[in-house]
Amino acid sequence: MEIDAAREVRTTCPYCGVGCGVLAKVAADGQVSVRGDPDHPANFGRLCSKGSALAETIGLDGRLVHPEIHDRRTGWNEALDLVASTFSQTIAEHGPDAIAFYVSGQLLTEDYYLANKLMKGFIGSANIDTNSRLCMASSVAGHRRAFGADTVPGTYEDLELADLIVLVGSNLAWCHPVLYQRIAAAREKRPEMKVVLIDPRRTMTSDIADMHLAIAPDGDVALFTGLLAWLGQHNALDRAYITAHTTGFGQALFAASALDLAGVAAATGLSEDELSRFYSLFAATARTVTVYSQGVNQSSSGTDKVNAIINCHLATGRIGKPGTGPFSVTGQPNAMGGREVGGMANMLAAHMEIDDPGHRERVQRFWSAPAIAGKLGLKAVEMFQAVAGGRIKALWIMATNPVDSMPDADAVEAAIKACPFVVVSDVLAGTDTIRHAHVRLPATAWGEKDGTVTNSERRISRQRAFLAAPGEARPDWWIVAEVARRMGFGEAFGHVTPAEIFGEHAALSGFENDGARDFDIGIYAGIDGEEYEALAPFQWPASSRAAQSPRRPEQGARAVRGSSTTRFFANGNFYTSDGKARFIPIRASTDTRTNPDFPLILNTGRIRDHWHTMTRTGKSARLSQHIAEPFVEIHPADAQHHGIGDADIVRISSTRGEVLVRALITPRQRRGSVFAPMHWTDQFAARGRLDTLTAPLVDPVSGQPALKHVAVRIEKF
Ligand code: SF4
Repeated sequence: MEIDAAREVRTTCPYCGVGCGVLAKVAADGQVSVRGDPDHPANFGRLCSKGSALAETIGLDGRLVHPEIHDRRTGWNEALDLVASTFSQTIAEHGPDAIAFYVSGQLLTEDYYLANKLMKGFIGSANIDTNSRLCMASSVAGHRRAFGADTVPGTYEDLELADLIVLVGSNLAWCHPVLYQRIAAAREKRPEMKVVLIDPRRTMTSDIADMHLAIAPDGDVALFTGLLAWLGQHNALDRAYITAHTTGFGQALFAASALDLAGVAAATGLSEDELSRFYSLFAATARTVTVYSQGVNQSSSGTDKVNAIINCHLATGRIGKPGTGPFSVTGQPNAMGGREVGGMANMLAAHMEIDDPGHRERVQRFWSAPAIAGKLGLKAVEMFQAVAGGRIKALWIMATNPVDSMPDADAVEAAIKACPFVVVSDVLAGTDTIRHAHVRLPATAWGEKDGTVTNSERRISRQRAFLAAPGEARPDWWIVAEVARRMGFGEAFGHVTPAEIFGEHAALSGFENDGARDFDIGIYAGIDGEEYEALAPFQWPASSRAAQSPRRPEQGARAVRGSSTTRFFANGNFYTSDGKARFIPIRASTDTRTNPDFPLILNTGRIRDHWHTMTRTGKSARLSQHIAEPFVEIHPADAQHHGIGDADIVRISSTRGEVLVRALITPRQRRGSVFAPMHWTDQFAARGRLDTLTAPLVDPVSGQPALKHVAVRIEKF
């Protein structure tokens, strides 16, 4: 592609789900600079440390720049022919379910769309899942149970309009820093705004919290069912809203009332006084937003946690109105875009359902596809277990590094090693996953590719190229289309630009969509290249192509807001058969799951300046200065009990494996639980791969792994 070096290119950050706008420029000497886009509605010019350091991470060292077969450099034709012929042969011999794609929230929507189309409509299996399964699958499941669709009922503006923000299982200051900055700025203007942090750790986010509830790991269901019961007991319900817009309240309240306040205190590890103060504050504050993230989702009860939160908002009518709502913030830059195109094993494109025969028929007809997936596919953990069991004979991994990031990582690595045919398309030549690939396909990286992403508030933004692709690297969508053509599906995969793919994706979202589905950007059907190039950020559902004009915080609140309100009250309906939201009856468990051999609970998560398995942020010396090595936070009393001193090297062991990290003794950590970051791999720290410890335990509804609740023991090394 032609790159105009003199121009500042408007693009978006490739890290977290905040989806900040970035202006990137290449100087005459080739130096790249980035700054926050002052006009992007996610960040209005702000960037966090990771976003600010993007220019330091785009060097070509370590890049995969040519296709390879078994470590041998080859050309695209030979590599693609081998992939296509092996897939076709595998399907002929073992059926379509013997193939699986494991994709990524790092992919752009256009990449995701074509991969999903190939697998579900042309191979005829739903065995396509994504590392987003590890990120927000429980939120998707909770939304669908309550709203009838995976609709996110909040916007970033709601965070600035709220009088109470409840942050659950979210270290927003480090994991979604620009959202944290927006809240901090709003709070400075309106000091009466209150923030409650619910987290086993006292993180940097507690700096803006009026109240920190150091909850026991997985105590969230008890906390929010307890809140629902308390609202009922204290006449703090919105009875009119419940009657007009919901069903199932009686059963939900009955289930929530199973624990009294003392029982909730025991299950959450909080005092009755702490509970009463939080519950009173929630009841008294009409404009409340509950923001939740991986501490809620990455749990064996993640979906119940999500619905326990949503139940409290439905019971108080705090949803779909300015400054209110349950709000899931996504970890990855395009987790939401993946959901839009059905890039998960239990979803169909455009938020349609695999288990709905009408939806299957509609998508198949739209694609003129020879097949359509007839049943749910394998979710991430199941997928790698199927690889290990020999049921998956050919696996394509795109833009992700499961050998380091999947739970039970050693077992996942063994499965990939034993798989008869593994294709990896990625940016880097040396990840722990790509080493095991039979075919390696060089993909373009951030800065080199064009497409769209969708952030946590459903805002679709363009990523634009400002660098030439190195060597023979190609966009992921191009690679998928080439494989599809070689498998004999050329007519349906004739796209030559990402704009064409986006236009088709938009058309499908509006195809025979009578408002019964939430995701609709059909007005962009057939968008031409020029308009796509100029596409301004917009939120779905989109009713007109006129650019939406988000309000800056200094402009104050709207009298009547756009999308959040209209989304839920357009036609007076949620996306269920009767248009009413569903209360989900949830009972809190009092099972504390202790194991005397592994007496501590490990909570895994992120740090401020690194991202996933450090394949990008590891290139910036500046980012590594913040925290240079893997560590485990441990409470002083636990450290003393286990004979551990500050800065000791310690061994953390679980039933799955062990790692060596440095001890950081701090009262910020709750007694009985420890925290360690997920980022380091053996490439950066010997025996530091944290996911060798985690187990393939998943939420039974969403299939999301419980990465925040791992039984471990710690000893001095
Ligand atoms: Fe990028 Fe997230 Fe930081 Fe924004 S907050 S600059 S999207 S990492």
